[in-house]
Amino acid sequence: MQGLMQNWPLLCHKLLDYAAENHTGREIVSRSVEGPIVRTTYGQMRQRALGVAELLDRDGFGEGQRIATLAWNTGRHLEVWYGAMGIGAIYHTLNPRLFPEQIAWIMNHAEDQALFVDLTFMPIVEKIASSVKSLKKIIVLTDSAHMPETKLANVVAYEDWLAEARGGFIWRNLDENAAAGMCYTSGTTGNPKGVVYSHRSNVLHAMIAAMPNAMGISCRDVVLPVVPMFHANAWGLGQSGPMVGAKLVMPGGKMDGASMYELLDTEKVTFTAAVPTVWLMLLQHLEETGKKLPYLKKVVIGGSACPRAVTKKFEEVYGVEVIHAWGMTEMSPLGSLCTIKPEYLDLKGEELLAVKDKQGFAPFGVEMKVTDDENVERPRDGKTFGRLKVRGPAVARAYYGGAGQDQFDEEGWFDTGDVAHLDQYGYMQITDRAKDVIKSGGEWISTIDLENLAVGHPDVAEAAVIGVHHSRWDERPLLVVVRKPGKEPTKEDLLAFMDGKVAKWWLPDDVAFVDEIPHTATGKIQKITLREQFKDFRFPNDV
Ligand code: AMP
Repeated sequence: MQGLMQNWPLLCHKLLDYAAENHTGREIVSRSVEGPIVRTTYGQMRQRALGVAELLDRDGFGEGQRIATLAWNTGRHLEVWYGAMGIGAIYHTLNPRLFPEQIAWIMNHAEDQALFVDLTFMPIVEKIASSVKSLKKIIVLTDSAHMPETKLANVVAYEDWLAEARGGFIWRNLDENAAAGMCYTSGTTGNPKGVVYSHRSNVLHAMIAAMPNAMGISCRDVVLPVVPMFHANAWGLGQSGPMVGAKLVMPGGKMDGASMYELLDTEKVTFTAAVPTVWLMLLQHLEETGKKLPYLKKVVIGGSACPRAVTKKFEEVYGVEVIHAWGMTEMSPLGSLCTIKPEYLDLKGEELLAVKDKQGFAPFGVEMKVTDDENVERPRDGKTFGRLKVRGPAVARAYYGGAGQDQFDEEGWFDTGDVAHLDQYGYMQITDRAKDVIKSGGEWISTIDLENLAVGHPDVAEAAVIGVHHSRWDERPLLVVVRKPGKEPTKEDLLAFMDGKVAKWWLPDDVAFVDEIPHTATGKIQKITLREQFKDFRFPNDV
């Protein structure tokens, strides 16, 4: 017997409809690329998104076609997402931090038909547009007054184009399993791989993300997604925000400490999310100016491991709850969040911080297990690590075009490529990327644990650990450090600081001081480049 409930497909535009009808006047505030702060509401955004849908449809774009965006987090970018999804087209976020040739490769692979681009990124488009054969139209996210000179064909100013909408458009009726969005993984090895979200997976992910055990946001929150929309969907906030009717504050292209602080303060932001490097900049700004964070309640930190020093400062100095989170582009992206279960509620001080070093537990909608190389599950003892595998309704089941099939098994598990352990309460802790873990004398050493420890030293600005060849042990850890300005910690200082906090045989065999550590386009330490940089390095104890 079938249930007798309505078939109400989970479609992304329903999120915006809901917000427009139930939270009509709630604001979306953006730091525009042109400069000024601009304000709109969910009611107005729906009208504009319907305009985008109508005009894309008029211009011949439709179901299943890829509509690329090369843009910062702004209200305009968000309404383009909804407009594209509302006709069954697929928004495709491009990461402007990649090399232009990589962007062109990705656009050609996805066969993008139209591109919405911020003024900031016009030089990139000038360089690559002619090599993207599928590209038919370029819409610059500005008005005619700010349009730059360009020799490119089929270019129009967004506001002029949008003004041509006649109104009265209605969203297309779609299958909830239809593709809605697309994002390529950062591709640290080989070519980037395309992840294709569906309407259903996006809506379910928005619910998963908003739940109290996860981000826990409501219509009383003011949400600042600092994490870019081009980095794994701004961690779902462009969908969870409208779903709960939260006020959104979009930071545009400015993510330095002072600009972040200005928005947090003037808009009375209660909830924000970004990678650790952004928060290091904000904390430095706060330290230099003596400012406080009276409105901010929660900060989600993920994308790479959150150093304990950052959690401690937010929680103990500024009274802001830190939620450490883990996820991947392939998971829409949220996989786990470190909110506190009753079992850990009584912990205080360093014991509580040690729990917050973990990436947290899976929300409903994410299944998680840790296995050895033979797919045998490892004990949930908080220390035995292995391959982290996941499945769920917002987890990829394949990559676009069939790349990387070996990461998916016949039972539907996706091998994340991360190495992790789970504890008895289900809290997961990432110990490494499978390709970064150091194999010393047959045993594994977690580079993330060592990095977290090293950045806890007051004179260290940033730290990375890589495995370097050692003739006796195969590989040993090398600690690479950027010192804080004006500080001169020595190798001995750092090793003494770390001594006693990890197993003796985990301690780095040497320390190298550098001016800068290379980062990927999504803000992660670029270990490949670092390993290349130190490929001729020899440990003093390696004779
Ligand atoms: P991306 O698809 O760019 O979001 O990258 C996903 C990868 O980032 C994961 O597979 C992890 O290796 C890493 N990552 C994400 N969040 C964390 C975290 N909180 N701690 C450690 N690594 C993380």
